[in-house]
Order: sequence, then structure tokens, then C-alpha cells
Amino acid sequence: RRQALMIYKDKPSQTLDGHKITLLANVGNLSEISHTAEVGAQGIGLFRTEFLLMNAKALPDEQQQYKLYSDALHSLQGDVLTIRTFDIGADKEIPCLPQNNEDNPALGIRGIRYSLAHPETFIPQVKAILRAANHGQVRLMFPMVSQVEELDAAFLLIERAKAELIEQEKGFGTLSYGIVVETPAAVMNLPSMLPLLDFVSIGTNDLTQYTLAADRTNPHLAKQYPPLSPAVIQLISITINHCKKANVKVSLCGELGSDPRVLPLLVGLGLDELSINPANLLDVKVALIKGHYAEYVRHAQHIALLTRITDIRSAINAFALDYN
Ligand code: PEP
Ligand code: MG
Repeated sequence: RRQALMIYKDKPSQTLDGHKITLLANVGNLSEISHTAEVGAQGIGLFRTEFLLMNAKALPDEQQQYKLYSDALHSLQGDVLTIRTFDIGADKEIPCLPQNNEDNPALGIRGIRYSLAHPETFIPQVKAILRAANHGQVRLMFPMVSQVEELDAAFLLIERAKAELIEQEKGFGTLSYGIVVETPAAVMNLPSMLPLLDFVSIGTNDLTQYTLAADRTNPHLAKQYPPLSPAVIQLISITINHCKKANVKVSLCGELGSDPRVLPLLVGLGLDELSINPANLLDVKVALIKGHYAEYVRHAQHIALLTRITDIRSAINAFALDYN
């Protein structure tokens, strides 16, 4: 099947009527990055850097990270690399770093909260990324941001990282800045945060967990509390509308984007970009290129009227079948 899909690899990623959607890849290491062009990815939309730490004996230092991010950029040959700073905490255990024992780790010191509490971990990573930006197109993305104060604090630390680089006479490049929208608070606070941002990416895995108060790792909840719940779809739609108004690029990097049947809904809601598991990228691309944008918009408008998860699922499956 993979072989049969390869004919789509170099086709433009646009609908029949020419509405373009950028298709990027989700990755967790360098070797995955070097293979994403093989499935037609136009770059990396989510590099989960904490995966670098999961089996590490020690935190890679600034120089080691600089080398790794630069190597990634060289293998991408000019395509964009979206680096998400370490998303430490919650279900992501990192043996080489100090972590508190928390009663509710998913609601605890994770993502940007950990980075702000541990500048000794955050600053070397930011310095490595700033230096790597001399070798290609880099977007920096913060996980688990829910209010503008966190962004203010993160940008202060970025200024500190730049000052240190200047002091040390190390060159660095320019970055674009974004956040993963993965809490309902982030959605509601977008108007205050968007003026500080170049892009946002919707993380539906956590957005679903935090909206529905349903642990993403609990298999007993997955079926009844899916991302295709009206509440989550509305939050995706609100996010996109805020971004359009502020003229900020809006992407989606949760698992939902890797399901080709959901593609018409996501495109119809108005996303600019999707970041997808490499194994699913060509399937999603096929779903994109065989329909018209106007039909996807009508499909999304129809789904917005549905109030039951089963009805949403049926509408999505029926639309997908029509296209096969
Ligand atoms: C998400 O939460 O949807 C996401 C993309 O990030 P992660 O799965 O790494 O938490
Ligand atoms: Mg997440």
C-alpha cells in the first residue's frame, strides 16, 4: 500500500480547486527527520525534543543539542523545522532530570511550567536552537502554555539566552515563535497571546484530555471521550477563528490530524497546516487532493450542527465513503 501511495509524494498538497494545505511531519528523533521527505512531508511540524531525553543518561548539553538541531536542519535542506521545547512532566517520564512526585502530574509542573521552573534546562536548549537557526528555517514552539504570563516569562529567558550568546561571541539566527494550544484556557486566552506569536499548533491529544477531564492514557475513557466530541471541535474552530482574525498561521499536530477520514473536517474548519505521523502522511494527502475546498467547508458547517459523538462519527465516515 505504501508503494501504491508513492505516486502522490510529489503532487502539490492542495484540493482539486487549488486550496493549499501545508503537510508536515511529527517526529521524535534525527533518523525519523531524515526519512520524512520520502513520504512527501514539506518539513517538520512537531519535533518532540523530550524524546531525546527518555533513554539518555544525562541531559545533552548546549553543544550536543546544537549539533543535533543543525544536523536535522541540514537533512531538511531548507524545509521548516518546528522544534518544541522539552515537554517534561505528566505521562512523559525523564529519568535523567529531577522531577517532583506530584499527586496529579498531568495538572502539575509540565511543559512550559517545567521550563520556567528550570532555566538551567531551558536556557541551554534555547541557546542551542538559536544557534542552529543559522543553518535553516526554525520555528520554536512552547508546550502547555495556557496564559500570557507564561509567554512573557519565556520571552524574558529567551532574551537572557541571546545576551549570553552575544557575550560568548556565538552567532545565532532568527526564529519564529509559537505555542501548542492544548488547554481550554489557551484557547480562551488567545487574543492576549496572539500578538506575541507567529503561529500556533493545536495539540488535540492534550486539548481533548483537558477539555473532557479524561486521562489520555486511560483506555477505559478513549471511546467515550474522543477528540471528535462537539466540545473539542468547537475549541478547534474558535482557535482557528482567533488566528485568522490576528493573521497568525494555524496548524494542528495532534493524532486527529493523522486520520485521513477527519481531513475534510479539519480543512473545512480553516486550518492552514497539518502535522502528521509520517506513516499516515500520504493517506492524509490523498484525502486532501481528491475533494473541493467548498465541499470540505460545507461538511465542517454540517458537523458544527451535530451534538452527539455518534452522529459526528457517522457524518465523517459517510463523507469519507463518498470519496472512495
Ligand atoms: C498533543 O497534545 O496533541 C500533542 C501534539 O503533543 P503530545 O502528544 O506530545 O503531548
Ligand atoms: Mg501535548
